[in-house]
Order: sequence, then C-alpha cells, then structure tokens
Amino acid sequence: MNQENFTAWICRYSRCLSECASLLNELDNRIGDGDHGSNMERGFRLAAEKVAAADHQSLGRLCNLVAMTLIGNVGGASGPLYGTAFLKLSSAWAEMDDIDGALLGDGLAQALVGIRARGKAEVGDKTMVDVWEPVTRFLRAEGDASRLAEMVAIAQRAALGTSKLEARKGRAAYLGARSVGTCDPGSVSSAILFEELAGIIGEGVERWPWQTLVS
Ligand code: ADP
Ligand code: MG
Repeated sequence: MNQENFTAWICRYSRCLSECASLLNELDNRIGDGDHGSNMERGFRLAAEKVAAADHQSLGRLCNLVAMTLIGNVGGASGPLYGTAFLKLSSAWAEMDDIDGALLGDGLAQALVGIRARGKAEVGDKTMVDVWEPVTRFLRAEGDASRLAEMVAIAQRAALGTSKLEARKGRAAYLGARSVGTCDPGSVSSAILFEELAGIIGEGVERWPWQTLVS
C-alpha cells in the first residue's frame, strides 16, 4: 500500500460512512446513544479532506493526520479509539512510502494494541476489538496480503457475531443482557473499514449488505 492507496482508502471509507451513517446510528440507537454513524461520518470526512490535501507525505504522516483529526473532532468513544489506532499506524509506518502485506499486518496489530490499551476491552466484550483481533491474527499468520477476501470474510463474520454477545464495555454495557440481538456498531464500522482496505489493494471483495441489519 502506497500513499495513493492510503488516500483512496480513507476517502472511500468516508464515502461509505456517509451512506452507512443512518444504519450505524440505528444500531447505536438500539444499544447506545445513536451517534456512532454521525461521529464516524464527521470524523472521517474531515480526515479524508486533510489526507486528500496533503501532498507527498509519508504513510506515517498521513496516518498521523487522520489520528489527530479523529481525536480532535470526534467526541464519542470511537474518536479516541480509532484515533489511537491511526496513531499507532503512524508510528509503525513512520517515514514509509509503501508497505507490503507483512508491514500491513504489523501496523494493524500495533493499532489493536493501542485500541486495547485505550478501551481496556477484550475479545467477547462486544466492541470493535472483536473485529480487529481476528483480522490482525489472520494477517499476521498469513504474512502477506494475498488473501484479502478471506480477511474481509473474517471481519464480516466477526462483526455479525457480536449480535449474540452481551456488552461488557462502552455504553451498551449498561443494557447488559438487553444488548444481545444487535450488532455492535463499532464492529460494523470496523468491518467496513477492512472491506474498503481490501477493496483498494485487492480485487473481488464482496461487501456485506449491512443495510439489511436494520431493514
Ligand atoms: P459513544 O459510545 O461514546 O457514543 P460511539 O457511539 O461513536 O461512541 O462508538 C461506540 C463504539 O465504540 C462501540 O460500538 C464499540 O465498538 C466502541 N467502544 C466503546 N467502548 C469501547 C471500549 N472500551 N473498547 C473498545 N471499543 C469500545
Ligand atoms: Mg454512541
């Protein structure tokens, strides 16, 4: 992945978020406070604008721009959490202009370390960690990015699987057992982030019909 791919990733993700904002808000409405889609849409729209305007910057610098924009502009839990993820990517890919599959896996694994340190959530707590963990485990085991369609399938399955979990972190945890039956919104936005990542560096990526979750 080079700077051009990275910029395309963030810009396409931002466009997807505008299409999915009401879906993500609806999921968050069922088990949280209904703002996840709006938070993500706003944060990534600003991030995409900054990244698109940045000329010839290293991947590390671009990730830093995304991180600072999310941390500075998104008030909900997701701003600092996604912000921390991109901050970790910015150190992992500092001064790099192009990364291979192994570095992609390393960077995402470090991003997960950051998300965990920040949110203190473990696998099974019904948070975005439930998607990031299996995705990074798969990428690290693979060592190359040739099986992106499989990575996407893992992310989608993990996000859909959060429906049966009881939330133990974040606002949804207040609902306890009543959080069962709804997918975690942050897990869905994370799965979409990985769909878009695979879409810009690979081919034949099948996007999940996320809208069906609320229709
Ligand atoms: P808020 O919960 O402040 O309204 P958002 O609605 O934007 O923020 O984001 C909610 C998402 O953030 C959840 O769906 C979940 O995936 C993620 N999240 C919340 N708390 C944590 C945590 N402690 N660790 C990891 N992820 C979390
Ligand atoms: Mg919310």
